[in-house]
Amino acid sequence: MVKHSNGSYRWQGIDVHPYKEDGTIFKSVTRQTLFHGGDDLNVELRYFEVGISGYTTLERHQHAHLVTIIRGCGRVLIGDKVIGIGVHDVVQIPPFTWHQFQPSEGEVLGFLCMVNPERDRPQRPTTEDVESLNANEDVAAFIHL
Ligand code: MN
Repeated sequence: MVKHSNGSYRWQGIDVHPYKEDGTIFKSVTRQTLFHGGDDLNVELRYFEVGISGYTTLERHQHAHLVTIIRGCGRVLIGDKVIGIGVHDVVQIPPFTWHQFQPSEGEVLGFLCMVNPERDRPQRPTTEDVESLNANEDVAAFIHL
């Protein structure tokens, strides 16, 4: 049992970390790992929070994500589509699909993310990838590299 501290989006005994510590590009994102996998549940459950004007890394990888929004609203890039998201929406990121999350203006976006504990490293877009992403004007207007 991991107790939530009422209304705080913080869980008791869980440290709040930077989203990533590998120097990839993101802005104003924190991570709390709520479940590391165990018994027959081969999943990690993390809570990510993207602050005002923040964004997650634009990336893709073999492993999938299953995301549930629990705070605020915003938009997500999935492949070549930019989609509005809000509280209680459930978002699937399939393998090898470009993705990036951003809150709406003035909003904080918080979401639970399920992922395999054993997973490959994310890929960042190459120059060619950026060209093809930018071919779609909605995507071009949305992404932060
Ligand atoms: Mn990812």
